[in-house]
Amino acid sequence: MTITVKALQKTGPEQPFRVATIERRDPRPDDVVIDIKAAGICHSDIHTIRNEWGEASFPLTVGHEIAGVVEAVGENVTDWKVGDRVGVGCMVNSCGECEECRAGQEQNCLNGSVGTYNSTDVDGTITQGGYSEKVVVNERFVCRIPDGLDFDVAAPLLCAGITTYAPLNRWGAGETKDGAPKKVAVLGLGGLGHMGVQIAVAMGADVTVLSRSLKKEKDALELGAAQMLATSEDDFFGNHRGEFDLILNTISADIPVDKYLSLLKPRGVMAVVGLPPEKQQLSFGSVIGGAKAIAGSNIGGIAETQEMLDFCAEHGIAAKIETIGIDEADATYDRVVAGEVHFRAVIDTSTFASAEVA
Ligand code: NAP
Ligand code: ZN
Repeated sequence: MTITVKALQKTGPEQPFRVATIERRDPRPDDVVIDIKAAGICHSDIHTIRNEWGEASFPLTVGHEIAGVVEAVGENVTDWKVGDRVGVGCMVNSCGECEECRAGQEQNCLNGSVGTYNSTDVDGTITQGGYSEKVVVNERFVCRIPDGLDFDVAAPLLCAGITTYAPLNRWGAGETKDGAPKKVAVLGLGGLGHMGVQIAVAMGADVTVLSRSLKKEKDALELGAAQMLATSEDDFFGNHRGEFDLILNTISADIPVDKYLSLLKPRGVMAVVGLPPEKQQLSFGSVIGGAKAIAGSNIGGIAETQEMLDFCAEHGIAAKIETIGIDEADATYDRVVAGEVHFRAVIDTSTFASAEVA
């Protein structure tokens, strides 16, 4: 027995979205069935479905910023009950036993965590993501959405929120340096960037947004940034050499990595979360000079995701969103790539109700 639900699906990288029905498994003893209320559009969905990160498994439904309500639970589930407000991010399973899982770092599971979509599940099927009416996931991969956060503005926290919170936390964005707040630069003001700005500000950092232009300056300041700089300004890299303790790089496209590293103070860190399709060039001299570090970061574990949700609720932080219906997904993808969305597009899944299945 399975649960049949409507979902936005693509049959190939060039094909438009269509409304299809997909099967969700009947809940196993440790599963939770979630009625999805809102699903964020992450740039990773676009990289995946456009085959920019390799060949995706079509037909495919993406989406890993999921917020909704528990509709049913398996017989062994004790932490969740019908009616709970919950979220699911980029993972839906992991071994639970390896050193990384035991340390709450399920995203680094040594036996391979199961991604929310385009990933081989424990039963051998390909996982299907959150642009859909319902999802069934293992109870360990469910987080609680605090009451103060609406579903639509909470959904993006499940990826954009944790992906920026984890490195800001790890690299001490909120710590002082020589008695002053750390100078943190957020590179790129998109879905991840706008969460990174708010979270870094709440942690106590002095935040500068580095964007291609000053078009979003008003927004950046409203999000709490102390200033915004346009990387297109004349001699930008010369003018801002050695200014930052920490750079959070959220850029989805090719960048001159060495030039950005020159913006760090000695011993500064660039934490990279943006994952452009092409390989980037790095000259070791850019990190050897000044003993700098460049470090990757991949979402975050489930406990830290819950910590981030609670942190956001406590500090009044939520995603700034544009709500779209399911028929606007294709056009929205182009707007995301053009950097036009302020700042996260979120699918209102109630628009599935009246949609005809293709
Ligand atoms: P997004 O909303 O499209 O934001 C990306 C930002 O990058 C844009 O707003 C833009 O900033 C900047 N940008 C885009 N093209 C650029 C170019 N050619 N030159 C310079 N800057 C450019 O995307 P997102 O959803 O935040 O995701 C950002 C990246 O993080 C993606 O590659 C995504 O796959 C990756 N990601 C990684 C993780 C992880 O766990 N590490 C998790 C989620 C997403 P401005 O408009 O301000 O210039
Ligand atoms: Zn994402």
